[in-house]
Amino acid sequence: MTEKTMHIDGVWTRAGSAATRDIINPFDQGVIAVVSEGGREDARDAVDAARQAFDRGPWPRTPGAERGRVLMRLAGLIERDAEELARMETLNTGKTLEESRWDMADIAGIFRYFAGLADKDGGEVIASPVQDSTSLVVREPVGVCGQISPWNYPLLQAAWKLAPALAAGCTVVMKPSEITPLTTIKVTELCVEAGIPDGVVNLVLGPGATVGAELAESPDVDLISFTGGIETGKTIMRAAAGNVKKVALELGGKNPNIVFDDADFETALDYLLNGVFFHAGQICSAGARVMLQDGIHDRMVEALRERMSRIRLGDGMVQGTRMGPLISAAHRDKVEGYIRIGREEGARLLLGGGRPSDPALARGFFVEPTLFTDCANDMRIVQEEVFGPVITVERFSTEEEALRNANSTIYGLSAGFWTRDPDRIRRMSAGLRFGTVWVNDFNVYFTQAPWGGFKQSGLGRELGRMGLEEYTEVKHVFQNHNARPVHWFGA
Ligand code: NAD
Repeated sequence: MTEKTMHIDGVWTRAGSAATRDIINPFDQGVIAVVSEGGREDARDAVDAARQAFDRGPWPRTPGAERGRVLMRLAGLIERDAEELARMETLNTGKTLEESRWDMADIAGIFRYFAGLADKDGGEVIASPVQDSTSLVVREPVGVCGQISPWNYPLLQAAWKLAPALAAGCTVVMKPSEITPLTTIKVTELCVEAGIPDGVVNLVLGPGATVGAELAESPDVDLISFTGGIETGKTIMRAAAGNVKKVALELGGKNPNIVFDDADFETALDYLLNGVFFHAGQICSAGARVMLQDGIHDRMVEALRERMSRIRLGDGMVQGTRMGPLISAAHRDKVEGYIRIGREEGARLLLGGGRPSDPALARGFFVEPTLFTDCANDMRIVQEEVFGPVITVERFSTEEEALRNANSTIYGLSAGFWTRDPDRIRRMSAGLRFGTVWVNDFNVYFTQAPWGGFKQSGLGRELGRMGLEEYTEVKHVFQNHNARPVHWFGA
């Protein structure tokens, strides 16, 4: 297999150490690619290239409209190669091909959206209180951006960062997850084809503890944007303190999906499943924490058990598969560890909990769709992010109890609830302390609306206009048109 390499200052580059890594298909453990395995030195080279391109290159000084044109071109190239990208993503992550196709369509749309925003900010003139002066507020690109992305939505998460950074005029060093770099490598090729100048988009590959840490620590990086686990996020925040770089964090979630007695039963049931089982539950906004009101609890639990027992597991490349494997053996160990913890804590395992018996799935990192009932708010299986195909069910009686329990978490990424009562909709929407609240829906996101977490789910927002603003610094330019000596000191 030809080694896929890093991209530094416009040159496709092997690791300085010449190390490589096999990239695995989690469905059958087959090797699907070999990529360079970079280290700290390589990351430093990439940061140097991005620094030069920012300080001296054309990109930050190119008019927004022209940057927008280049990004539109890139969106078109992503659409042209969408099927190849989708297949690559499915082979590398195990998610179904339909899901990967939706991701690619979204990604092209993200580049188009930020391309459109690239020339929309005309700055602001303030009516200055100082006589004979002008006061101008402008936004400028923040500088060199390190962008570290996770393995669950490899290209989607990278695009949420890359598109606004480029629209704003920044230069970047991308670091995809070491186990899912393929689509990010391919899009770097498309950046070259779209005409983005050398040094503007750099790509380093390799482990977080070295390559990622170098980006977080580097004094030449102005902003570090990270999507991933909460503990890694804390480490990055500490590392970023060295030069007080800007920090944008999209971390985990433990997201309640609350169904009241008056909900539309069939729709709520469907979205309890949709809320969790895409990509085998490896979704930061998975509604894995199901909360059911007394009146519908038993019927809904039975309906969940029945529908979950019929979820079709298989190869994501095969039409009709609804759930693929987990990303890796290590991650499966983690999910199985949580299932053990749930049982030990006294939650009732109603379905799943093991590996599927079908021999055709034996080499994949599968865990069966798993349903725990009789869960209590303070159980670890309820409070911690499992990141797998596991639902916990808590029962509640009153709206106050539902709200109190839903908010009793360190996370604050997203929450949803189901009811037809307009007053309750208003109260619950106001009371839930989460970055996204879905009313009679779950897991909807789009490019125009901001995404991000309250509490320990993160810092800052991606997508929407706020997603672009993250990549800018605000500058106030004050000009005095009639300055005269005031003779205050030593006169
Ligand atoms: P992770 O934290 O293990 O890794 C994420 C990225 O950080 C990878 O590229 C990794 O190489 C890198 N990394 C690891 N250690 C590092 C370090 N010390 N310094 C710098 N970089 C380092 O997360 P993961 O397991 O890849 O992803 C799953 C997590 O991501 C889940 O917790 C999930 O909730 C979260 N996530 C959040 C969102 C969101 O929008 N909030 C979206 C997707 C995923």
